[in-house]
Amino acid sequence: MPMYEYACEKCGLVFEAMQKFSDAPLTECKACGGPVKKLISQTAFSLKGGGWYEQGYSGGGGGGSCASAGSGGGCAGCPKAANE
Ligand SMILES: [Zn+2]
Repeated sequence: MPMYEYACEKCGLVFEAMQKFSDAPLTECKACGGPVKKLISQTAFSLKGGGWYEQGYSGGGGGGSCASAGSGGGCAGCPKAANE
């Protein structure tokens, strides 16, 4: 079930709501009843756009820029850890 983020235009509260696609979007703040607007989360996209990604791939030195790549764990979404 997708998670949606809403921001209240009255009190500024930001909250998440799990809704089905078929559910109507929320219109009222759960705290004050004011109007809310749906937010589009940019978190995942901004993380992927980091410069380290390109540098880590073209470097090829093994060390890379990922601090945890050498320990076998790798970070979430670390290209080296995923491929080897
Ligand atoms: Zn509110």
